[in-house]
Amino acid sequence: MSITRGRFALLAAVAIVAYQFLPDTGWWSAGWQVGVGWSAAAAILLGARRLSRRDRTPWWFFAAGVFCNATGIGVARVAQDVWGLVSLPTPADPFFLGLYPACAAGIALLIRRRDEWRNWTAVIDAATITTGVGLLAWVYVIEPVHIGSQMDRLAHATQAAYPLGDLLLIALMARLLRGGGGRGTALWTMAAALGVLLIGDSSWVVLDNLGGADSILAELPWLGRVLESVFLTSFALFAVAALDPDAARLGRTAQDQPAARLGPGLLVLLTGAALIAPALLASQVQAGHVVNGWSIVLCSTSVFLLVVARMSGLVREVERQASQVRALARSDELTGLPNRRAWNDELPRALERARRDQQVIAVGIVDLDRFKLFNDTYGHPAGDRLLKAASAAWHGTLRDVDLIARFGGEEFVVLLPGADGAEGHAVLGRMLAVTPQEQTFSAGLAVWDGEETSDELLQRADDALYRAKAGGRNRIESAEEHHTAA
Ligand code: GH3
Ligand code: MG
Ligand code: MG
Repeated sequence: MSITRGRFALLAAVAIVAYQFLPDTGWWSAGWQVGVGWSAAAAILLGARRLSRRDRTPWWFFAAGVFCNATGIGVARVAQDVWGLVSLPTPADPFFLGLYPACAAGIALLIRRRDEWRNWTAVIDAATITTGVGLLAWVYVIEPVHIGSQMDRLAHATQAAYPLGDLLLIALMARLLRGGGGRGTALWTMAAALGVLLIGDSSWVVLDNLGGADSILAELPWLGRVLESVFLTSFALFAVAALDPDAARLGRTAQDQPAARLGPGLLVLLTGAALIAPALLASQVQAGHVVNGWSIVLCSTSVFLLVVARMSGLVREVERQASQVRALARSDELTGLPNRRAWNDELPRALERARRDQQVIAVGIVDLDRFKLFNDTYGHPAGDRLLKAASAAWHGTLRDVDLIARFGGEEFVVLLPGADGAEGHAVLGRMLAVTPQEQTFSAGLAVWDGEETSDELLQRADDALYRAKAGGRNRIESAEEHHTAA
């Protein structure tokens, strides 16, 4: 019988419920917990075996973390009952603490698989959340450890290591969930495993703050069982995630799975994290005594800078997209040349420049000859290819100051600053010569008279084009002089 996710979840649930009713001896309870933990670690390894070689490593770390932590439960029992060791650090602490670096390494590997480390948006979001929660951890857990207790340095360090480990996992998990990569039940189950672990850790803190975990648990032994079950649930959830048929998706890269959006959930989370410092300050002001002033200043300053960084990132992104949209709106999709809209903007400006610099300027209109016939003969896609090739070839004959735009269909316009009639004729002649596939065009050329509007200038060029077509095509006609209405 193979171990499926459903079977394991059922077995684990039964084991955890049964745990509540075990005989009340320390050995039974420790043995049961270690058993559940080791089974979970074994199930994680089993799940990892089903993955491809490159997807396995993170799960080995998770298995090691769960194994280590569960083993700690047995070590603690032996240390207490056999050797009488209860003061911090106990021999069990290294085992308990081993979970944090192991899981951190597993998550870090997953992040590297799925995403680039330098995904700054995800890093900033993770840092914002961690900074907010970090202030709470500092104020309620880490700092009080140092104040007014009789413990020695190593004991301090041991006690502080737990919340620091939690913070490390929060940071990495936030980074993992914020970045790109495959999403699915395995990811959410793993997130739940870590979430449950954090709930377990914080429950200890809450009990300690309510008057000492040890004395409360001595009065309410069932509460101890429930609390221990929280950790067993976390172990089991890791295994359920590993056995998930979806587990392989956890290692999928970001390319096929975009990063999480800045949706309402994330926004609420970031807002909540940013409001922790002012809320804490408010509660201390209300209580009449600000205890953690500098910690609050440090946290709110960091969060403020992170928000500014995030905001400037968003603004840059919007600006980048806006300029992309502008560029798209002004260029022709098929040929990549400026389109009619861009031409209509540019022509009056060019005339204005020519007026200022007292320079000549010429405009040509080019229309492919018998292009409908070309399409009918070779097909529309071939016609498209010709338009592209001709655009590129024509563009290649022009100077940097010249402009060629697609006016519409198989009609193009060129703007030639500094060119008089003869020069304009020569330029259009070069363009005609490089037109691909032995196609030809007819063109009308008009030199600006220094007075007329863009429309009038273009109209004269168009009239010349009409004469070129009428005269037999494959030729360039110059426009008549412009006559202003007397
Ligand atoms: P003339 O020498 O009188 O200009 O003949 P013509 O066939 O080129 O002129 P007409 O204006 O009658 O037809 C232009 C043709 O250009 C019609 C259309 O099929 C083709 N055309 C316009 N835009 C495109 C395009 O984007 N792709 C392709 N493949 N053909 C286009
Ligand atoms: Mg035409
Ligand atoms: Mg034509």
